[in-house]
Amino acid sequence: MTISADVIVVGAGPAGASAAHYLARAGIDVLVLEKSSFPRDKVCGDGLTPRAVGELIRMGIDTTRWVRNYGLRTYGGGRCVEVPWPELTSMPNYGLACPRTTLDNTLVERARTSGARIQENTTVTGAITHERTGRIEGVYARGCGEKTRGEEYRARWVIDAGGVSARLATSMGRKKDLKRPMGVAYRTYFRSPRATDSMMESHLELWEGEPHKSALMPGYGWIFPVGGGLVNVGLGSLSSTAKASGLDYRAMFSTWMNNVPSEWEFTPRNQQGSLRGAALPMAFNRKPHYADGLLLVGDAGGMVSPFNGEGIAYALQAGRYAADAIVQATARPTRMSAEAALSRYPQTLSAELGGYYTLGRIFAMLIERPEVMHACVTYGLPRPTLMRLVMKLLSDCYDRHGGDWMDRLIAAFTKVVPRA
Ligand SMILES: Cc1cc2nc3c(=O)[nH]c(=O)nc-3n(C[C@H](O)[C@H](O)[C@H](O)COP(=O)(O)OP(=O)(O)OC[C@H]3O[C@@H](n4cnc5c(N)ncnc54)[C@H](O)[C@@H]3O)c2cc1C
Repeated sequence: MTISADVIVVGAGPAGASAAHYLARAGIDVLVLEKSSFPRDKVCGDGLTPRAVGELIRMGIDTTRWVRNYGLRTYGGGRCVEVPWPELTSMPNYGLACPRTTLDNTLVERARTSGARIQENTTVTGAITHERTGRIEGVYARGCGEKTRGEEYRARWVIDAGGVSARLATSMGRKKDLKRPMGVAYRTYFRSPRATDSMMESHLELWEGEPHKSALMPGYGWIFPVGGGLVNVGLGSLSSTAKASGLDYRAMFSTWMNNVPSEWEFTPRNQQGSLRGAALPMAFNRKPHYADGLLLVGDAGGMVSPFNGEGIAYALQAGRYAADAIVQATARPTRMSAEAALSRYPQTLSAELGGYYTLGRIFAMLIERPEVMHACVTYGLPRPTLMRLVMKLLSDCYDRHGGDWMDRLIAAFTKVVPRA
């Protein structure tokens, strides 16, 4: 049996749900194939910067009951610095934190109510391609527990929103660029008095024992209050290339936990769920984002920011751009002009994020050197104006057009570097 739709979306994470929502809202017949069933967990820090919140608001998501945060607290070089989220025209002045079980379920329901067909428990196993042109014409997908390659699902366009593994894209020859930055991060949850904190917290230095009297571990940590008396606690590392870090993240995490203040109550008894980790594909490490009928959105297209490991905002944003390009293409009378409309998708991504991600690649190369990281922490943290600028840069919370001198400076830098 063959099932058809105008567009097939592989994966119903933030990228797939966003693309499906915008497509369905424009009247396109969109079918989302998702291997798991909702609600489901996803390893994540659950942090949503104002940029991500702006995307959620645009999708009409009601976030009034989610936990808000009003800025970032950073520990490093023996100091603690708090910087509020900036006042901008293009996004709100608050962030959110929401466990992915809730966030992703909400996004999928949003896409469903907009008219998208969501088929859960369905794993995409491979591409159906035109034998002469190689263009994708659909996918094979099977239900839970089936051993075959599955049924045929046909569509004019296919979106790979299948996350970091990007199996479909890989099978179509879109290999990841090993020279682009890659992160690895682990997280778990604790019941803790820290759950009422109104700031996101990052730790730029993780000590093996007593702070400043023991050795530094590579990597950074975070504590994000997510509501319900819980905090999401995690650590990660950033590498300027995809080479394996060789780090023992579990050992690092338990060393860190042994040294945090006891009043935070990050004890084994208060831990909720196991410590789990995954890779973060950064700075457009898989391209092209459109070719031969296949679009890559979110982690499948390597859209995590090298500056801070954030990927949800970009997954939502790219889903919106991908849907817009497809909607324009469906209204074109010829295949050639439809292809021209589709080519706008990678162009828009590159124009909006290409320069910013190149700066992120430079950042990843610089902070890989401990002496640079040490200098940044020691001399940067005590300077409030510099910290406000750095916070805007690292969180991508700046106005692309207009804004204050900091916004204009960051925007100018993104324009003078080549696009990622
Ligand atoms: C430890 C950690 C902490 C992080 N913290 C943050 C954070 O605080 N804030 C932030 O913004 N980002 C964070 N990220 C990054 C963020 O999780 C990702 O960038 C984001 O989930 C990308 O969304 P996506 O929709 O592209 O992919 P995913 O969220 O991975 O969704 C992909 C979906 O595709 C489905 N799928 C996969 N293969 C198939 C298949 N063959 N057939 C059918 N379905 C398939 C999966 O089941 C999944 O539902 C973190 C990542 C990690 C690992």
